[in-house]
Amino acid sequence: MRCSPLSILVLAATSLILSACAGTRQTTSSTEETKAEGKTISAETSAKARGIMREAGLRLSSDSTKAYSYDPPGSLNTSDKPIQYQKKQTFAFDRANVFFSNEFDGARLNDVKMIDDSTFVAVLSPENAPINYSAWYAFKAWTKAPSKTIRFTLTYTEARHRYVPKLSRKPSADWRSWQYIDSAAYKVHFDSAGRETTSATLRLTLNRDTLWVSGHELFTSSDFEAWSAGLAKLPFVKKSVLGKSSLGKSLIRLDITEAGPDAPCVVIVSRQHPPEHTGTLALLPFVETLAGDTPLAQEFRKKFRVFVAPCVNPDGVDNGHWRHNAHGVDLNRDWNNFNQPEPRHVRDALLKMRDSLKTQFVFGVDFHTTQHDVFYTVSNPPMNTARDSAEYATNPAFKQFDDKAALRSKFVETWLERTQKLFPTYQVTISDSPRTPNGATSGRWFDRELLAPSVTYEAGDETSRELIQQIGVGSAKVLMEMLLKK
Ligand SMILES: [Zn+2]
Repeated sequence: MRCSPLSILVLAATSLILSACAGTRQTTSSTEETKAEGKTISAETSAKARGIMREAGLRLSSDSTKAYSYDPPGSLNTSDKPIQYQKKQTFAFDRANVFFSNEFDGARLNDVKMIDDSTFVAVLSPENAPINYSAWYAFKAWTKAPSKTIRFTLTYTEARHRYVPKLSRKPSADWRSWQYIDSAAYKVHFDSAGRETTSATLRLTLNRDTLWVSGHELFTSSDFEAWSAGLAKLPFVKKSVLGKSSLGKSLIRLDITEAGPDAPCVVIVSRQHPPEHTGTLALLPFVETLAGDTPLAQEFRKKFRVFVAPCVNPDGVDNGHWRHNAHGVDLNRDWNNFNQPEPRHVRDALLKMRDSLKTQFVFGVDFHTTQHDVFYTVSNPPMNTARDSAEYATNPAFKQFDDKAALRSKFVETWLERTQKLFPTYQVTISDSPRTPNGATSGRWFDRELLAPSVTYEAGDETSRELIQQIGVGSAKVLMEMLLKK
């Protein structure tokens, strides 16, 4: 699956900024994508979103990975920081007969100014700063006139424009209730150097039916509750509460098994980062496949158990945060210090299983969203570093190598290889980095403390939703087959 050493180096030069963890080197699986006849799955199903991005002037995802930095200074300091809540309100422009509102869960619209009665400028601000470029927006708009077309510009105080707008007249938890904005109605603006996106202008046709506009389809804590409650109707699914979030919301826990309490366990977490909806679109089919009624899933559940924390940051999700929890902290940088209650509750439940039940953890996965699909892995020894090299001898991270750690890395690698084989026209991309003693992400903690093969599963911003669903199902099947040694 891994490229030749040369192609790893070439890719590394263009992908350093993308990395969620310092020192990442990216590897890309070799696929037949470029040789495949006709349209590939990814090319075909992402064509519409890519077309809109291109016509709007936004980079395609493979280029845009260079444009974003994930860890602003201070992200590893996870002690509480003040945040600013947006004022929940309706912005009423009576003269223009146009109304905007952020009064719903998941909304983000800090301010709106009227330029003339059909031109408006929105101001979007994060919960606090510094923050990475995950500039979230979600609002609704309407007019009391039969119909009115407006120009609406999104501007940002701490970031660049990122998400292609999705529109809905009747939003639901089903992503199919949303559609991409028409490419002719969407224009992205760049800075004077022509490199960085600054803002975007949308042409919106309003009427008395409320129009919802959002960076991604909305799926908030109440949707997680409803989805979890639906799953918990199955006799082998138990829904409980891990603990309370910073603002007192329940952190959902699902246990899925038909085996005993001490059965080997798969750990699944998601939505530490509020806007990362496509991660949820992968999580849902992944978990539903493990809880499915196929012979494979039935056999799997008789031997294994599954622990799911599907929404680790409900406060951030419901308040339309760009990245952080209600204490202004990036939760996926708190898995070393555990200053924040949300990761602490997940940790405590898992350590209780490890220490009192002697649970063996056989896989850990954390679902996220980034500009393009990528799987973050950890491995030792790092690729292309000989055990007798000077670098190997001097870098403390490499000393964490042992045969069991190598087996964990191998398990993840094989899982990705077999997933790749299921989807020959889709490109599985791996961003691999060495183990470090105090890695602060969930994936590193799963590897370090639970000794679980571990991966951070990132679905792309604008990857086709059908494809995300298919890969969620397929990769869950591969996992069950591997654990059952099929
Ligand atoms: Zn994330």
